[in-house]
Amino acid sequence: MKNYYKKNEIQLDGGKHAFFDKNGKIIGRNGITQFCGKCCKAEGLKPSNSNKKDIEKAEELGFVFYINNDHTAIVCAKCGREVAIEKTYDTVQAEIEEKNLEKLENLHLVLAGEDWECGFKFYALSANIEYEDWLKVKKYFKYYKSGWSEDQELEFDCFEPTGWLTRNPTAVEQILVNEGLIKSENTLQKIAERAAIEKQKRDKEKKKELEKREEIKNKIGVINEKIKKIFDSSQKRELSDAEAYKYYFRAQFGQGDIANYTVTEDEIIHCVYMGDFIYGIAIPYSKECEELLKEKYKLNDEY
Ligand SMILES: [Zn+2]
Repeated sequence: MKNYYKKNEIQLDGGKHAFFDKNGKIIGRNGITQFCGKCCKAEGLKPSNSNKKDIEKAEELGFVFYINNDHTAIVCAKCGREVAIEKTYDTVQAEIEEKNLEKLENLHLVLAGEDWECGFKFYALSANIEYEDWLKVKKYFKYYKSGWSEDQELEFDCFEPTGWLTRNPTAVEQILVNEGLIKSENTLQKIAERAAIEKQKRDKEKKKELEKREEIKNKIGVINEKIKKIFDSSQKRELSDAEAYKYYFRAQFGQGDIANYTVTEDEIIHCVYMGDFIYGIAIPYSKECEELLKEKYKLNDEY
């Protein structure tokens, strides 16, 4: 991670960026002195690039900001109004170093990319290490400078090594494990082993889930057969269009499905949506059939 702040750059509360000069005076990004809006307003001044006269006046009256000693705020020299500073080069640097410390705890090599033509694999360190430690492994690294534009990278969609990379991760690991910088469980091999175990676990769970679904599907298939048999062997009554329409849209089991069922006091009604009309038949009530329907739609919900 790189600190993109200039040494004298600050970010004010609210996100605005500015700079302080060698006297601590605050200068905006446009190179113009930052004036205190409150003081300027009281004097009716509108200092801007197109209003140089007011700039001179505001400067003369001292409506300018200076950075305070601990760099936590800018202060108006006239009225003493403070605006908090959110970030400075130093706070950004401290943030980066803290993050790097966290990452150092977990230092390991990462596959930065693979050259598909020659099959070479390039590895990088997952965090910046101390310079003296770096010297111990530097000989295994090479600095690759990108010769491609972003457009080219997108166009060719293949890996071009950039930054400090090694093709000998094992040698680097050996040294850094011996130095106590890489934990022995964080070598590429150990990480790959853990990933393989994780994958196995996931695959197993997936298989179990599929098996369970298959089992439910089979159970539903058996029930469907039984329901069909009951319907086939029963005396059937064909529903009128109006009746079929009514039962189809208020079905007790499988509402919204192409085929559904309703159990009444003395009949079991089966309706099918046929594209441009609804066909319905009824058979005399059967306790067995009602139980089968209950079971079928309970399983349907689990599926
Ligand atoms: Zn002021």
